[in-house]
Amino acid sequence: MSGAAASPWHEARIERIAPITPRIVSVMLAAPLARPVAGQHVDVKLSAEDGYSAQRSYSIASAPSAPHIELIIEKLDEGEVSPYFHEVAQAGDTLELRGPLGGHFIWRPQDGGPLLLVAGGSGIAPLMAMVRDWREAGGTTPLMLVYSARTWAELAFADELEQLQAQMPQRFLFVAATTRGAPRREGDLGRRLDAVQLQDLQARWGQVPRHVFVCGSNRFVEAAADGLLAANVPAGAIRTERYGGA
Ligand SMILES: Cc1cc2nc3c(=O)[nH]c(=O)nc-3n(C[C@H](O)[C@H](O)[C@H](O)COP(=O)(O)OP(=O)(O)OC[C@H]3O[C@@H](n4cnc5c(N)ncnc54)[C@H](O)[C@@H]3O)c2cc1C
Repeated sequence: MSGAAASPWHEARIERIAPITPRIVSVMLAAPLARPVAGQHVDVKLSAEDGYSAQRSYSIASAPSAPHIELIIEKLDEGEVSPYFHEVAQAGDTLELRGPLGGHFIWRPQDGGPLLLVAGGSGIAPLMAMVRDWREAGGTTPLMLVYSARTWAELAFADELEQLQAQMPQRFLFVAATTRGAPRREGDLGRRLDAVQLQDLQARWGQVPRHVFVCGSNRFVEAAADGLLAANVPAGAIRTERYGGA
């Protein structure tokens, strides 16, 4: 039996649900789950009255210590499950949840760094859990987050990330790469990530990453991982999580 199949389903209650970008909602859930490790995910099951049910995986974006599980869900217009969270779900609703799941794409403060996190779109979710856990543990190792979205407005948690950089400029570097919008701050990129940019960013950061986590759609993860390898990041340091899609 796989880890997921062995994990029991629990009832979870939506405590808060709100848009955080034009295409992403944040869902705060109360659920009796074990404490997660940053990077893990849960399975969500929605059931209709006629017995039909659908389940999908969502990464945990909240810090492991947080009282609620935060998920961030991007709306895919043709999707079956994600539009439900944008159009139907409300605070007070219940759904089923199992987890926390996943033992490969995880980081604990004792794993150390330097830590390079590369996110595309909603792929920020597990990396945000790592950033939050890193911050709570004192942020003692260098961390660079490179986060790509179409525009600045589509970057989830941009305010929190900017604030963190202002608080810990020596340890935390946050670089936004917007593919359909001009760079907003000095040092941000206004285009897709490629090997040359990843190499430049590493030079600017001045660190050799010990752990690298890349998360997003299939296409994003492939391009970013290829770029990292071409920028001489050792394959053994890179861990990836793919959300599907093209
Ligand atoms: C471990 C794991 C963690 C995940 N965490 C998150 C998360 O934190 N937030 C989040 O929003 N999603 C996350 N996903 C993706 C999520 O599980 C669903 O696949 C996603 O919400 C689409 O489900 P849906 O029912 O709306 O679409 P579906 O009905 O399953 O698919 C509709 C169409 O969209 C395409 N599609 C599916 N996924 C994507 C994608 N990522 N990008 C572009 N097209 C796609 C499909 O190929 C299909 O053509 C995660 C996936 C995995 C495996």
